[in-house]
Amino acid sequence: MFDYSRQLRPDEAQVHLLDHEGHPGFPAVREQIAAAARAYGFTLTAAASLDPWPADPPITGHRLLLVLASGPFDQPLVDTLLTDGLRRYSIISIAFRYRDEGEMRSYAELVDKYKRLAEDRINFLRPCPLPGGELVVPPTKLVDNAICDSVRIKYRPVNLDPAPIALDAGLAAFFTRASDLFEQHRLYHRSASDGYFAARTPGDPGFYITATKSYKDPLDLRRVVRVERYDEADNTLRFRGAYLPSSDAVEASIVFARNPEVASVVHTHASTWFTRNPRFRERVLVGRERYGEPRLGHLVHQALDGVEDGFVIMEDHGEVFAHNAPEVSPTLLSHLPRP
Ligand SMILES: [Zn+2]
Repeated sequence: MFDYSRQLRPDEAQVHLLDHEGHPGFPAVREQIAAAARAYGFTLTAAASLDPWPADPPITGHRLLLVLASGPFDQPLVDTLLTDGLRRYSIISIAFRYRDEGEMRSYAELVDKYKRLAEDRINFLRPCPLPGGELVVPPTKLVDNAICDSVRIKYRPVNLDPAPIALDAGLAAFFTRASDLFEQHRLYHRSASDGYFAARTPGDPGFYITATKSYKDPLDLRRVVRVERYDEADNTLRFRGAYLPSSDAVEASIVFARNPEVASVVHTHASTWFTRNPRFRERVLVGRERYGEPRLGHLVHQALDGVEDGFVIMEDHGEVFAHNAPEVSPTLLSHLPRP
């Protein structure tokens, strides 16, 4: 697996889009992903069949197979992907469509079974309901997946010093504590590399954040990097450290820059416990947005202004817990499930 110590070159970040059984939206989705490939620097190919299979993936690179299926969970297809597909692709994402909630639920156990068998390398994209009740994966989500599972980052990285950064004891304690809670309570849905932890000592214009694609169960502190500045005008992110900062470092930069009080942010995808839990519905204060872009940072900042305790949910995405000290938010601690 590529370690994201640098940006992937376009020839190393390959996305192959598969039209499984003639999906009506395929041409439009292909267009949108092609535009993202030009904007963010990855290579897109598309086909209507897996015959022939491509050669083995490039050793230094990363190859995503994104399958757009016209119908519900298809076990023969998923079996083929599990055996032959994972040999040729670093990661596989599949978008199935369902007539209604009942049909989707009827496949839930199988989906879980195959997620386990694929050990985090097959991703079943979660569909969203249309007004008529049908469940489909929205095109924006497919585009974001093509980016997120290839080049990952949308900002332009400028590494000021690739030497590993040194964390002071207080910040190291924050990252260790966040990682312990993340692991103990499984604060993720798809992968233990999802989400980010970020913190700064009060008054510091920069901040420390986990690198992109860092497993947090537990977190290796060598994967914490320092962001000096994000410039919205030219989308550059200046940082120090041995790995690329989280793809969400853009949003974190905006929250830290616009809220001088904020000293820590923990962002997780504990979807079942928080984001999709009806108990926290009134915390869904940010709608469906693309990740890694300034607009989402500004919306999170505004939403945080409207709550007392630093806890907001981004719809269909995940939770944000901001706090005024470089410690894990007490609000997060108070809402964690009892073990
Ligand atoms: Zn996220």
